[in-house]
Amino acid sequence: MPAEIINGQQLAKELRDNMREEIVQLKETGLTPHLTVILIGDDPASHSYVKGKEKASAEVGISSNIIRLNADLSEQELLNKIVELNQDDHVHGILVQLPLPNHIDEQKVIETIDPAKDVDGFHPINIGRMIVGQDAFLPCTPYGIIQMLKSKNIVIEGKHVVVIGRSNIVGKPMGQLLLNENATVTYCHSRTNDLKSITNQADILIVAIGKANIIDSSYVKEGAAVIDVGVNRNTDGKLTGDVDFEDVKQKASFLTPVPKGVGPMTITMLLANTIKAAKGLNKG
Ligand code: NAP
Repeated sequence: MPAEIINGQQLAKELRDNMREEIVQLKETGLTPHLTVILIGDDPASHSYVKGKEKASAEVGISSNIIRLNADLSEQELLNKIVELNQDDHVHGILVQLPLPNHIDEQKVIETIDPAKDVDGFHPINIGRMIVGQDAFLPCTPYGIIQMLKSKNIVIEGKHVVVIGRSNIVGKPMGQLLLNENATVTYCHSRTNDLKSITNQADILIVAIGKANIIDSSYVKEGAAVIDVGVNRNTDGKLTGDVDFEDVKQKASFLTPVPKGVGPMTITMLLANTIKAAKGLNKG
């Protein structure tokens, strides 16, 4: 039987409908969650991601603004801007769209954001809290993937999960969140020997590489759940994942598509984090 497709767009819509209702109630108490996005330079992909975030925020009733800055601004100017936003009580969430120009230290920028406003969940304080199992802002992509697995009642506890990719924003936190859910986690990456022999042991396979259609059914155990995080552009300009969808569909039990898979869930978890930030900051 072909895999059941996990429709991220549909799940995102359901979660956003609930958020919209929650925000109506928050607004009645005088609280409107606000997200500020800093966009530097004119990278078309970054512009498109930021537009998506702005649109999704508006859809659920989160107010947002985009601060557009020239790519030649100095690192200190950017840090000053973030400090200003940290001190602004009307701003609940701050997101600096990555990647940054080469002359700006990405880690320094992330660490300047107030952890209480770090809705991307990239600040080392939030990552540390996640690791020790404390309340934290979780990185949006792995957080969304956990929601996708749970939405289909896919058992995580006790299962062998293989994560291909070890970036700070996807692979590493993905494995940690799955470990927190009592999975047995194996990380793979570009230096892994005999990748196929490892991925073939996976009950759940998370693919976050960034190479179009690199994972075909020979990497997949019969009946595995496969999550495709990759976003690549075909030669004809169409979006495609890291997984050979048609091939793997015949072998997996669950599979996420690209587009309409992990992407919409990533934005949705950003909205969830912004609401959480607004409620948290409002307490004090
Ligand atoms: P990244 O920082 O480039 O990391 C890619 C990872 O893949 C690295 O750990 C790398 O290993 C590993 N890798 C590369 N080639 C490999 C190979 N042949 N075999 C095994 N592992 C290999 O990318 P990222 O930021 O994690 O993103 C990964 C993909 O997800 C990209 O396509 C990105 O666009 C997409 N993405 C999607 C969303 C979404 O919301 N849908 C969000 C974020 C990212 P090394 O560490 O050894 O180099």
